[in-house]
Amino acid sequence: MEILTGNNILADLDSYFKDNGYDNLYIITDHNVKYYHGKYLSSLLKGYNYKFYSIPPGEKSKSIDVVLSIYDDLIENQIDRESLIIAFGGGVVGDITGFVAATFKRGIDYIQIPTTLLAQVDSSIGGKVGIDYKGLKNIIGSFHFPKLILIDIQLLKTLSNRDITSGLAEILKYGLIADYDLFNYISSNLSKAYNKDEHFLLDLVNKSISIKQDIVSRDKFDKGERRILNFGHTVGHSIESYFDFSQYNHGEAVILGMIYESYIGKEVGLIDDDYFWEIYNSLTKLITPLKFNDLEIKYLLEIMENDKKKLNDQTILILPIGKGKVGIFNDVDVDLIINSLKGEWF
Ligand code: NAD
Repeated sequence: MEILTGNNILADLDSYFKDNGYDNLYIITDHNVKYYHGKYLSSLLKGYNYKFYSIPPGEKSKSIDVVLSIYDDLIENQIDRESLIIAFGGGVVGDITGFVAATFKRGIDYIQIPTTLLAQVDSSIGGKVGIDYKGLKNIIGSFHFPKLILIDIQLLKTLSNRDITSGLAEILKYGLIADYDLFNYISSNLSKAYNKDEHFLLDLVNKSISIKQDIVSRDKFDKGERRILNFGHTVGHSIESYFDFSQYNHGEAVILGMIYESYIGKEVGLIDDDYFWEIYNSLTKLITPLKFNDLEIKYLLEIMENDKKKLNDQTILILPIGKGKVGIFNDVDVDLIINSLKGEWF
């Protein structure tokens, strides 16, 4: 698997296709990405056989119905194992494209061209592909590693501030699990991210990829250490799902998850008060936490229970244990989770 990062490097695709003998290309994207960047990508593909398939933007597209409609179109367009499927979009497009590429005709080569900060630093890396089902995130999926991940910072110029925040969430997560200096660096340079400073974004992308690759290389199929990448996600996924994937995007929910899970870490005595409030003050610059009522907490815990089945029948929480370090815990008292979500402490 090759990873190329840079600014204005989309045109490098041509030599990649030629070197690897791909001339039949099937591009899966979403309506926004096609609107902003479809024409430019098309202009680079003259001389190739290519087709765009565009899906509605947003998490609701990560569904079995959309997968079925893509299969229909692949059959209609006679896509075979010599073809190349291209994910051209954010994490939603990347996850669904990878899933389609993993399953259609028992697997077709695909590449990722991530167009959101979140997808560039996280979802395009590591081979996890999948869709949501019955309100459960990523409940159907597989591992399918792209042949190439081409990351062009220039594509981020059209991204909304909310989607910059979403990408920053995962980068701050890398800081909290593996690189405390990175956490500080972002927290004190937030405006550079929102101003889309190219050097800053490329630096963040490269640092993030190196942390994720390092962890994934030791645990490719998510059996142990890779789970630390789920810091903020147990609670975050439940919040995302509770609000039917419409109130918070993935990264925003992960920020909330990291706040509540860090509080639990403090209450268990894994981190001291100072470090906890440092995390809280940095993350709340990006999103304001909520105080959940008893009924809401009941539903949130039910959603977490479903995650639990996926993880060997144990509630697994990733909690901070020191600056830039987390541990994996499966014995957290449910009352601590409830108190954290009640939010009477802030
Ligand atoms: P997304 O794909 O929904 O993109 C967010 C929004 O940005 C969409 O409206 C999209 O149309 C728009 N957009 C994309 N690129 C754009 C551009 N260049 N300019 C303007 N608008 C653009 O969401 P996301 O935050 O990229 O990804 C979230 C998804 O990623 C979730 O489904 C999450 O579960 C998944 N994820 C997967 C992994 C993994 O390892 N596979 C890891 C983290 C997250």
